[in-house]
Amino acid sequence: MAGLLSITEPTPTSTLPKGKYFNPEALATEAIEPVNNYSREQVAQLFELPLLDLLSQAQAIHRQHFIANEVQISTLLSIKTGNCPEDCGYCSQSGHHRDKTKLQAEKRLEIDKVIAAAKRAKATGSSRFCMGAAWKHPSAKDMPYVVELIKEVKGLGLETCMTLGMLNPEQAGQLADAGLDYYNHNLDTSRSYYEQVVSTRSYDDRLDTLNNVRDSGINVCSGNIVGMGESRDDRVDWLYELLKMPKAPESIPVNLLVPIAGTPIGDKVLAEGELSVLEWIRTIAVTRICCPTSYVRLSAGRESLSDAEQALAFMAGANSFFYGDKLLTTGNASQANDDRLLRELGLTKQFAAPKAAKLLPVLDAMSGHKSQVALSN
Ligand code: SF4
Repeated sequence: MAGLLSITEPTPTSTLPKGKYFNPEALATEAIEPVNNYSREQVAQLFELPLLDLLSQAQAIHRQHFIANEVQISTLLSIKTGNCPEDCGYCSQSGHHRDKTKLQAEKRLEIDKVIAAAKRAKATGSSRFCMGAAWKHPSAKDMPYVVELIKEVKGLGLETCMTLGMLNPEQAGQLADAGLDYYNHNLDTSRSYYEQVVSTRSYDDRLDTLNNVRDSGINVCSGNIVGMGESRDDRVDWLYELLKMPKAPESIPVNLLVPIAGTPIGDKVLAEGELSVLEWIRTIAVTRICCPTSYVRLSAGRESLSDAEQALAFMAGANSFFYGDKLLTTGNASQANDDRLLRELGLTKQFAAPKAAKLLPVLDAMSGHKSQVALSN
């Protein structure tokens, strides 16, 4: 059994906790304490593990923190499409690339159309409805619109998520007061590769918005895009950036680039070749190990993957994905195909967990008795 033993032992240079992440028995029921304070070096070492070791450890950790074989499903709708003032090099919605991508811009979607889409999403099994707008940031006149959308969609019994660009503290507070559950703002890549991706805003702008979202009490959704020409070191640095936050994002989308002709990064990748899908799966697994209680989401890029590749992504600890035929402007795996795949893999849909009621402290002026009243969300 020398072959088996050889995968149970850490490489001589490893500084990872011995016996914790190299134990093949871990897939069974043995309790593993998650280690959240990984150094950058340890994150890099996880990326270097043999893939099957990495997958088995990621799956073991996943099973400690989530119900095995259950996935959370979200639906994404574009509520304002195209003509974005930012110049993200992968994005068809950027006004900077529209001469080449020819994307048809659309104004804000009417509220009743958004509600109708949310009802359809709920009827087909989504527990969260995500709304995206191609803005640098919402303007003052956009805020009443998005606040109303949050209230209406929540009224249907769905969790809400928005991605609207940068937010200042006041705007984050307004969205929190409206009841927004999640705000998405991806870091996309490492700080050092970021300038290859976008020039109209800085990495620190991105982090400022994430801090504003976190401070407002809204759950943070922040992920990356793998396969933009970045190195593995960049993927390590991206993940380590999340680990340096006071709290890891509750939701982490790990996107696989869909190269779009006419965008600078899309054209480059189409000319030079796409990254191996296994490197994307490896990134999912390391993310699962380092952020054991976060939802790790499969987003863009799923459309082109085989059943087996998607199964490996779930094995790596992904437990959330987008449902529906379209992701903002790129295609997505069809719903009928997703339902078939879920059945074949024996995966079930997670229904929305009721959000804990907000408790308001109350002091009885006569008796001095302190108590709490629950506010409905
Ligand atoms: S990724 Fe978002 S911010 Fe960047 S160009 Fe596209 S819509 Fe605008």
